[in-house]
Amino acid sequence: MEIKKIKAFGTVSPTASLTEMQIERRSIQPNDIEIEILFCGVCHSDLHTARNDWGGTIYPAVPGHEIVGVVKNVGNKVTKLKAGDLAAVGCLVDSCRTCNSCKQDLEQYCLNGFTGTYNGKDKYLGSQTFGGYSEKIIVDEHFVLKVPSNLDPAAAAPLLCAGITTWSPLRHWKAGKGTKVAVVGLGGLGHMAIKLAKALGAEVTLFSRSPEKKQDAFDLGAHNVIISNDEGQMKAAKGKFDLIIDTVPYVHDVNPYISTLSISGTLVLVGYLGGLEPILNTVPMILGRKALAGSVIGGIAETQEMLDFCGKHNIVSEIEIINMQDINTAYERMLKSDVKYRFVIDMASLKKQETKS
Ligand code: NAP
Ligand code: ZN
Ligand code: ZN
Repeated sequence: MEIKKIKAFGTVSPTASLTEMQIERRSIQPNDIEIEILFCGVCHSDLHTARNDWGGTIYPAVPGHEIVGVVKNVGNKVTKLKAGDLAAVGCLVDSCRTCNSCKQDLEQYCLNGFTGTYNGKDKYLGSQTFGGYSEKIIVDEHFVLKVPSNLDPAAAAPLLCAGITTWSPLRHWKAGKGTKVAVVGLGGLGHMAIKLAKALGAEVTLFSRSPEKKQDAFDLGAHNVIISNDEGQMKAAKGKFDLIIDTVPYVHDVNPYISTLSISGTLVLVGYLGGLEPILNTVPMILGRKALAGSVIGGIAETQEMLDFCGKHNIVSEIEIINMQDINTAYERMLKSDVKYRFVIDMASLKKQETKS
């Protein structure tokens, strides 16, 4: 198989800055679409992976899984898109396609393990997969999404992770008219959760540590805001919510949120991966038939459904566009919650560097 070297931005260790590097991409196979990347969103998972927060990062690591670009070439069996079309790639670039999960369009729960857009196992080259902080990506058409033409391509990029990760639990737990949904944390995922839950017809509340974000939450569509470290406000919300989507990236006490669930309510963790501290008190769960659940991204058909819904309702992310070279500063700002509410890299900045050097 022919291999091409292209430009990317990545890191060689958990403590190194991200810098320009060369990576390899396969040549186009019959079912492949080659995409020139225009924009790539910056997800907190990119930072977790670059810094090996979860363990298991293979270096060099090139993050980026909120990809929007233009189709450059297609393999001879491709029917989904043609050269010149807008295309998107999210967190998955492959799965086994034969297991029970894959057959039900739940590629994100592939029983043989899905191939992540970065830090996955590349079935073609044998190396780790490299993500969207790069000039181009080559992906099997099954894993490529169509972007509604009315959406701004830069602001649509974060839909590919922040959007689908919150859409999937909202749909699974049937958020809609007559349901009360709460979102924990106003960041990339949180702000999309508010917009999507509102558009689905739910009554939406934000839990936040940050009183200064209150007005933004209302502007995004929240009906209520609860400051999570205010005990009085937390007590007043007891027994209220049918569904809570918790986007906090680090270990935190979920007990106070469980008590704000209604009977049979569910708290879905999408942010933090790992053991909970302090200990989870099961008493209110048992006495209230409450559930604690988790959810990871979404399947390909569901991602297209979310993109089409966003097209219909004109929903995109609130973004700050940066150059590729600003990524290290952007990570530090993301850690301080200093972004409204998603960084998106203008990938033309990576090319510009080429013409200079
Ligand atoms: P983000 O933009 O940094 O937002 C996280 C928000 O959580 C912050 O804005 C902040 O909101 C709150 N927060 C941050 N640190 C906190 C702390 N120590 N304690 C309490 N609250 C805190 O991150 P993101 O991109 O939305 O990602 C959120 C998490 O989801 C990450 O861990 C990411 O890896 C994960 N993720 C999971 C999936 C999945 O499929 N399950 C997909 C994508 C991302 P307030 O200031 O309002 O409190
Ligand atoms: Zn992500
Ligand atoms: Zn599978």
